[in-house]
Amino acid sequence: MSPMSSAPKQTTVGVTSKADPRDQMGRPLRDLRISLLDQCNFRCPYCMPVTEFHADYQFLTRQQRLSHDEIVRLASIAVELGVTKLRLTGGEPLLDKKVAELVSRLARIEGVDDLALTTNAMLLAPVAQKLADAGLHRVTISLDTLDSGIFRAMSGGRGDLATVMQGMEAAEWAGLSPLKINTVVQRGVNDHTVLDLLQHFRRSGHIVRLIEYMDVGNRNNWRSEEVVSSRESLQQIEARWPVRPVDPSYHGEVARRYEYVDGAGEIGFISSVTDPFCGSCSRARLSAEGMLYTCLFASVGTSLRDPLRNGADDEELAAILSRIWLHRNDRYSELRGPGEVLRPVRNKVEMYRVGG
Ligand code: SAM
Ligand code: SF4
Ligand code: SF4
Repeated sequence: MSPMSSAPKQTTVGVTSKADPRDQMGRPLRDLRISLLDQCNFRCPYCMPVTEFHADYQFLTRQQRLSHDEIVRLASIAVELGVTKLRLTGGEPLLDKKVAELVSRLARIEGVDDLALTTNAMLLAPVAQKLADAGLHRVTISLDTLDSGIFRAMSGGRGDLATVMQGMEAAEWAGLSPLKINTVVQRGVNDHTVLDLLQHFRRSGHIVRLIEYMDVGNRNNWRSEEVVSSRESLQQIEARWPVRPVDPSYHGEVARRYEYVDGAGEIGFISSVTDPFCGSCSRARLSAEGMLYTCLFASVGTSLRDPLRNGADDEELAAILSRIWLHRNDRYSELRGPGEVLRPVRNKVEMYRVGG
């Protein structure tokens, strides 16, 4: 693929592909999350409940999924339009046996400042060094509890805590640190184990981020009563360890940062339900079958795979992507209001299709 210049271009479809487009709320496009596949080795009930994602569930075929060539091409175009951060996700991205090769290709795209991957870490230990050598900058590990029984239940009976911890250690050894640890807090499920988890990672250099359980998708039977607000988690934490807020490390940072006053490290809070951050949301999401979504809660996406496979050149694809972004006015979490689905949307895209 030939590199494009960053100047605005007139394309054959008559649409100007504008570098650094701003959406309807003035937000730039900076972050592309790429879902490599819709399959997962876990069945976390809040994401892919086993009752829905059973043995006969029809996942995408290889032919339906974007190839690595197609992913690299679309990512390069997105970078020309302003994206500086790429994150590989899924489903479980490490089920893609050639993920390190893809990482090394994405790492070579000029303009990518941050190349990260989100994983449940079950398959991480054997590939962590290879991923680091390929040019991965950072890894985010999803880990909801250190209680092995609850962990197993929260992985849908598929995860093994010791294996995940080995994956985490391997990532640290490989230099993929500081690790970020994503912990979804669900009332009545793992909320009583959060302080133990924080205690374990104090002074480790890793950053635990407590995530409010979100009403993504339509299949997890989300109920607002199961959301533990960041405020509530913070109160619990403060009762045990003094903490204080820290300035964001960059504009648009999703997590609100706090640090332990005694110097034991940092904690993040991701409060999509009670304290939405749509105003600075610069993220687009590419599903494994090449649908582009401009919001985690979107009902509608736009296929980039179809024009790509129908012979669109880079400039046409850039024009399509730019046009989608220019029209974007998503702010679902702000409209939803805290703890309540004000506007029930029945056909939201599922989290396992677009990553976190
Ligand atoms: N399988 C990988 C993993 O779990 O890290 C990557 C994909 S997973 C969809 C990405 C993130 O979404 C995970 O950190 C997971 O905890 C989070 N997630 C999934 N469903 C969620 C929900 N309903 N509310 C909040 N976070 C959720
Ligand atoms: Fe799989 Fe990640 Fe969803 Fe859990 S959260 S089911 S590990 S995709
Ligand atoms: Fe971004 Fe949509 Fe989440 Fe708002 S609700 S922060 S627009 S992904």
